[in-house]
Amino acid sequence: MTTNWQERVSLKPYNTFGIDVLARYFAQAHDDDEVRQALAEAGARQLPVLVIGGGSNLLLTGDIDALVLHMASRGRRLLCDEGERVVVEAEAGEPWHPFVQWSLEQGLCGLENLSLIPGTVGAAPMQNVGAYGVEIKDVFAGLTALDRQTGELRDFSLEECDFGYRDSLFKREPGRWLILRVRFVLGRSLNAHLDYGPVRQRLAEQGVETVTAKAISAAICSIRREKLPDPAELGNAGSFFKNPVVTGALAERIRAQYPNVVAYPQADGQVKLAAGWLIEQAGWKGHREGDAGVHRLQSLVLVNYGQASGAQLHALAQRIQADILERFGVTLEMEPNLY
Ligand code: FAD
Ligand code: NAP
Repeated sequence: MTTNWQERVSLKPYNTFGIDVLARYFAQAHDDDEVRQALAEAGARQLPVLVIGGGSNLLLTGDIDALVLHMASRGRRLLCDEGERVVVEAEAGEPWHPFVQWSLEQGLCGLENLSLIPGTVGAAPMQNVGAYGVEIKDVFAGLTALDRQTGELRDFSLEECDFGYRDSLFKREPGRWLILRVRFVLGRSLNAHLDYGPVRQRLAEQGVETVTAKAISAAICSIRREKLPDPAELGNAGSFFKNPVVTGALAERIRAQYPNVVAYPQADGQVKLAAGWLIEQAGWKGHREGDAGVHRLQSLVLVNYGQASGAQLHALAQRIQADILERFGVTLEMEPNLY
């Protein structure tokens, strides 16, 4: 066995829900060679491999009978600097928020609205992470992934990733692509996105007169710290459900009964509903079953008060889904990856 493989390792420190399940084997990959070595060895032993980053988008419902490979590669660099347009690259294991902060320190704009999202650079393309009106697809320059079926490296362009709302080719082909490094195209001038939620208002409250990328980042960090539970204090995986996008006709039927429904018309005529509003309206906010619960301030976030199992959280999620379907005719889709 390779020296850095460990047997029967608790994954509690490796998932932000804090769920205590065991990995049959656990290893860290610090570079491409260690990734290849781990995959080869797992292949030789016919062991499945689960790749993880920060574990902030996982719901682990039982022990993992596999090699859990934790991406621990580091490195971030300017690849190409054309003055106004700068391409940066980071290794998959780089923690996301420090990478955003580093880009801001370089005087680069583009990632500020994505501040304080947990997790790693390598996982960000999986669901095209997004917040406050920006998704990584808006600043994406490319990525390099290992095809686990063929062992070959492949560079993906923006179009090839086929990003959607909290979605990508990589999410739709689970287990095939291991993302090694990601590139972003950033600018030196700010193209500010302030019209989402309370961002503009928070900047005003903070007395910001000249809006900079760093000021937007600071405003968003302060909003997020107020609204979202810190996984270090209360286990969670952020939004547990995607915001459902429904037909205009269904949105109108819901509005007829609930005139204050929170709804955002989309360019294609469909309507995005705030899942958090639906869940709150149905009375789930603050609901608790043992140690599994719905956060008392943010109904889109399921929380682990301590000893909840993944199965308990999943069962709670399923009850919420069934209730929302019955009340509103809306199907809620889970956002975290279930294992
Ligand atoms: P993990 O949870 O470790 O893995 C997620 C999935 O990606 C798994 O299927 C895993 O197998 C796969 N994976 C991980 N690394 C790789 C790799 N290198 N190659 C291939 N597959 C890989 N998300 C948003 O979009 N917007 C938000 O604003 C946001 N806010 C959040 C706030 C909180 C408090 C929390 C807890 C979560 C939030 N999230 C948000 C969800 C989560 O942080 C992101 O989805 C993040 O990108 C997950 O990264 P991770 O490294 O933790 O991935
Ligand atoms: P919020 O500001 O209370 O808004 C509620 C929902 O309405 C959001 O989910 C957002 O959808 C949508 N929304 C708000 N303003 C909008 C606009 N101008 N146009 C279109 N849609 C709008 O949301 P929040 O829960 O505090 O989260 C703030 C941002 O951080 C959101 O973008 C959210 O997605 C992101 N976030 C994501 C996670 C995660 O785990 N995925 C966790 C925390 C926060 P969208 O979600 O589609 O943006």
